Amino acid sequence: MKLPLDCDVAIIGGGIIGLSIAMSLQQTGKSVIVIDRDDKLINASRNNAGAFAFADILPLATPQIIKAAPKWLLDPAGPLYIHPAYVFSIFPWMFRFWRASLNDKFEQLLQAQASLMALSRDALERQVIELKAESLLHRKGQLRIYQHKKNFDRSAIFWKACSQHNVRYTLLNSAAEIAEIQPGLNSTYEHAGFTPDWINVTDPNSWLQHIQDLFIVRSGKWVDKKVDRIIPSQNDVSIKMEEHTVNASFCVVAAGAWSSRLASDLGDKIPLDTERGYNVTLPNSDFDLKTHLTFAEHGFVVSTINKAIRVGGAVEFAGLRRPPNFNRASALLKKAENFMPGLLNGNGYDKWMGFRPSLPDSLPVIDYSTLSKRVLYAFGHGHLGLTQAAGTAELVRDLIIGQNPAINISAFSAKRF
Ligand SMILES: Cc1cc2nc3c(=O)[nH]c(=O)nc-3n(C[C@H](O)[C@H](O)[C@H](O)COP(=O)(O)OP(=O)(O)OC[C@H]3O[C@@H](n4cnc5c(N)ncnc54)[C@H](O)[C@@H]3O)c2cc1C
Repeated sequence: MKLPLDCDVAIIGGGIIGLSIAMSLQQTGKSVIVIDRDDKLINASRNNAGAFAFADILPLATPQIIKAAPKWLLDPAGPLYIHPAYVFSIFPWMFRFWRASLNDKFEQLLQAQASLMALSRDALERQVIELKAESLLHRKGQLRIYQHKKNFDRSAIFWKACSQHNVRYTLLNSAAEIAEIQPGLNSTYEHAGFTPDWINVTDPNSWLQHIQDLFIVRSGKWVDKKVDRIIPSQNDVSIKMEEHTVNASFCVVAAGAWSSRLASDLGDKIPLDTERGYNVTLPNSDFDLKTHLTFAEHGFVVSTINKAIRVGGAVEFAGLRRPPNFNRASALLKKAENFMPGLLNGNGYDKWMGFRPSLPDSLPVIDYSTLSKRVLYAFGHGHLGLTQAAGTAELVRDLIIGQNPAINISAFSAKRF
């Protein structure tokens, strides 16, 4: 005799992607279980920079990045680093990244990224109403600043994409204009663009916790275990953990940077890797931060987290197992202090490293598994997981309830590699 199912949908991963999907499905009346091994320190969603980066529609693999990368790699304090022992492992990912920067491919990726971003922008507003969470947001825009005129000129590709895809911005061409939005910066900054519709959470940890708490209040179940295997059959899916099994009608893999092993067991070889990123949180800084700052040439951002200031960024390819190299966080801080006099007032700070789940073409996978339509994938959001969580959640919800997704999702296919 067949046992009754434990739930309609089981979601593997309780980061921002998994939990946003869980909430979205609950709203349709589905019973949902989230399974997470619950190691909050390695969950990328709890300590990121907290930005809904709706202006960042440009895929990362631009011709400009390909040109700048060798110089960055040679700079020990630069924004890009590959661990020597990881060079061979990351080579196929890098090759795909380079291919994604070629003109025709780049245009397709830009269209797909922009459409997911537009959906996510609207979906976030629906989510904020549903979560009653306006008080957990700052709506203060983003200032994207450039020290060197030549780099500002090169950023024309970014602003052109914004114009094409209805992202509002204003360009600023003097230190005085910049100071009207953000006083106190090093006066060598004379070029910037301001994107007013950029939003930040007051704290990504509180945002995630708020969603998790509401999910539980609305009868969602949380299983604190590591998933080992997913076994789909015709009518249901078994999700296997050590000494424990959950049976569901559908299963969603939203396990961030750890998702590809689960997908691989189902026959989908997806080139997911991790771009490790660092940040430093300064609880007592005297710097009066008025908006989210993006130091585009240096690959880091500065945001307000509760009453603290967080400096975050860098991309490090070193896999999931090597310990963090917090010298990278120190290098970020040193640079930021140079550009933001008074940032560090000597009263201590916290360092953190997180695993961005990244695909070489900068797009996530949002699709059914090849083996079974009872298993869906939602991972690989790279630098934009918080930003695209609400949009991704609506797409996955639609696939599960058998409704047409609001945007064309072919670019997010699991079979595109
Ligand atoms: C320094 C830094 C700054 C960032 N800033 C921003 C930002 O400002 N805006 C933005 O949009 N994005 C930002 N990001 C990216 C963003 O944090 C990620 O894209 C996002 O958190 C990914 O969410 P996720 O739910 O896919 O993965 P995660 O948050 O990593 O969650 C995955 C979960 O799956 C669980 N899991 C994995 N394997 C298993 C298993 N086998 N069984 C059970 N559970 C499992 C893990 O425990 C984890 O909790 C930043 C990232 C970094 C590193």
